[in-house]
Amino acid sequence: MFSSKEQFKKTFLKRLEMLCGKSFAESTPRDHYQTLGQMIREFVSNDWITTNERYWASKRKQVYYLSIEYLLGKLLRQNLINLGVEAMVERGLQELGINLTEIEEIEPDAGLGNGGLGRLAACFLDSLASLNLPGHGHGIRYKHGLFEQKIVDGYQVELPEQWLRSGNVWEVRKADLAVSISFWGNVEAKIENDRLIFRHLNAEKVTAVPYDIPVVGFNTNTVNTLRLWSAEPAQFPFHQDVLKYKRETEAISELLYPDDTHDEGKILRLKQQYFLVSACIQSILRSYKKQHANLEQLHEYVCLHINDTHPVLAIPELMRILMDEEGFGWDEAWHITTNAISYTNHTTLSEALEKWPVHIFQPLLPRIYMIIEEINERFCRMLWEETPGNWERISSLAIIADHQVKMAHLAIVGSFSVNGVARLHTEILKERVMKPFFQLYPDKFNNKTNGIAYRRWLLQANPRLSALITEAIGAEWTQSADKLKQLLQFQQDEPFLQHLKKIKTDNKKQLAEMIYKQNGIAVDSEAIFDVQVKRLHAYKRQLLNVLHIMYLYNRMKADSSFEIVPRVFIFGAKASPGYYYAKKIIKLINTVADKVNTDPQIGNRLKVVFLENYRVSLAERIFPAADVSEQISTASKEASGTGNMKFMLNGALTIGTLDGANVEIHELVGEDNIFIFGLTAAEVLRYYQHGGYESVEYYHHDQRIREVVDQLVNGFFPNVSNEFEPIFDSLLGENDQYFVLKDFASYTTTQKKVSEAFKDSIRWQQKSLMNIAHAGYFSSDRTIKEYARDIWGILPYQ
Ligand SMILES: *Cc1c(COP(=O)(O)O)cnc(C)c1O
Repeated sequence: MFSSKEQFKKTFLKRLEMLCGKSFAESTPRDHYQTLGQMIREFVSNDWITTNERYWASKRKQVYYLSIEYLLGKLLRQNLINLGVEAMVERGLQELGINLTEIEEIEPDAGLGNGGLGRLAACFLDSLASLNLPGHGHGIRYKHGLFEQKIVDGYQVELPEQWLRSGNVWEVRKADLAVSISFWGNVEAKIENDRLIFRHLNAEKVTAVPYDIPVVGFNTNTVNTLRLWSAEPAQFPFHQDVLKYKRETEAISELLYPDDTHDEGKILRLKQQYFLVSACIQSILRSYKKQHANLEQLHEYVCLHINDTHPVLAIPELMRILMDEEGFGWDEAWHITTNAISYTNHTTLSEALEKWPVHIFQPLLPRIYMIIEEINERFCRMLWEETPGNWERISSLAIIADHQVKMAHLAIVGSFSVNGVARLHTEILKERVMKPFFQLYPDKFNNKTNGIAYRRWLLQANPRLSALITEAIGAEWTQSADKLKQLLQFQQDEPFLQHLKKIKTDNKKQLAEMIYKQNGIAVDSEAIFDVQVKRLHAYKRQLLNVLHIMYLYNRMKADSSFEIVPRVFIFGAKASPGYYYAKKIIKLINTVADKVNTDPQIGNRLKVVFLENYRVSLAERIFPAADVSEQISTASKEASGTGNMKFMLNGALTIGTLDGANVEIHELVGEDNIFIFGLTAAEVLRYYQHGGYESVEYYHHDQRIREVVDQLVNGFFPNVSNEFEPIFDSLLGENDQYFVLKDFASYTTTQKKVSEAFKDSIRWQQKSLMNIAHAGYFSSDRTIKEYARDIWGILPYQ
């Protein structure tokens, strides 16, 4: 049906009638979207089945990526590109009078994630399939993804997200593959045939139903699977209060928790976590047993990778099934489990490290808790034998301590590989946060610097730049990102650099149009587009950016001859609904925007834009239009960042701290092609350890700082009275935990350098080119190849 344009058009029209029950003349863009989506799914179904059969028949190792989040965005365009039919379909539709871009708008973003962690999982799926690797995702089919953000009067307002309202064309419900999950109840132990047997009694059963989404590789026949689990009431609820049971069951896959760096500690969250791993493992073992005589070599054929600690209950769950259902003894089960599970750590922020109070955990998952207790006991005994009497060491490393289950400790002890997500992050894990564990298990720790699906973030998101690159170096770069280095030969090629500039300007004009439509702000596409888009967090320091804007504004007001290279500061950020401080920062950005944008004295020289509802599809419009990428986290706090990579790939220059993957970007592009400022991670950690920073000193001694900080509370912003007092207090009363004031001077100086550099347009384009040319390293293809080789031990098919 996609073999030629005419064939496509014919099939499309026929399907449209069949599917929608109306004539073409009556059909709507939604009908067109549904029809095209159905056709693609049908088209890939053969390869999908073949891929699966081949994997199992070959009996080679497969990987299952377990993640509580997948931030997929839209899939229509990606699938068309990966199948190699985008241009043909676009033309065919055009001849029918249908605009592909318009029907793309119909597809809702699949926003089953908060930010970087969920987007990483989505990028990894794309690379696994594109590299013909046997790797599948398992997650939860949340009815409501991350909330929709509206800005009302400068404040964030959250609306429930409804991506499934009109169904989901990509998924296939597999009711026959449903499995049963047990919660609550009690455990009975008894001796049978000389063996201690455990039985989980009086459990409340929930049915987990899988919905499969095909993951289509780029330019290959491989179609992997993303399996999302939905919670439904069991068929014969024993419950007396059926309605209550139904409500509580469905609540499990009702919504995504909207917080990515705070451990919520809510029972529903724990239910979600166990629901995911139990469903996933049961379904894997069922398939496995069809091909293998027994489970003894499971770890040689199956790897379960856990994305952060949220799916860490995979460890006790696999132990439970092996022992209670398959009759293995502890040692054998432990050998299989610990050789089957690998773990990625995503953060060193202590408030984000998951801990579960025993009083919540134990009643909900009584058998799982017993197994964790046993793991803990054996682990502590081992520690005792190493350093007898060192109680302090044992209690700090224990999996259960202070009536809490420490999920990261469980993950390290129960897996064969622990990786960080950027070189600096892994070093901090090994040398500081997880040091005692690193000393215990030096061979488990390794680094896998994050990457991005560069085909989505460049080929798909920036068609103008992609066309130029292909024209310059051929199309091979779409298959191997390293080839982007060939662009280096154009460093001195002025027409090429002019072309690069023209493309950026065109992209900026397109974004400017959107800004005008959405925010009513007219921005000049010749100005520097300076962008900070990411979740709103104190450690990401959107505040530093805003205070600098306030400083620029003050300078311009005080001195009408003050020269400035025109700049548009663009923000996009969702704050967790319960994160009071982050919401204050959103209000501050919007308040500053109002003040600056409406001041006739400022005109077009300075504009501030907050784009609401930052998400994948919005990100795809922003990155191609950015000149400057703000990556200004407090050093040591951002594990990797992936937004930084998307900007770089689209030719934006980074202003950033030496944090996360910025360190590696700096190394790749060199000093001249990035703007580094501020404290280093080592310096920040030294201050945390030994003190010595007094934010008030910076307030008193730097007049620029005093002015902007005072403006938060002195009536400078009309009609907000004491709105920003909490921000003022965080900077002075709480001694500025994120070193905003400490880094202010260095940031300001560096921003001045950015302006200066932008004036030399050709030099700027050279820097931009250097960034694009070196961005191939951050392809998630590279990252996934490293995982496959060093951790999973899987090989490509074909
Ligand atoms: C890439 C991405 C992120 C992660 O951005 P960071 O700057 O690395 O925090 C978050 N949200 C969306 C929608 C993204 O595409």
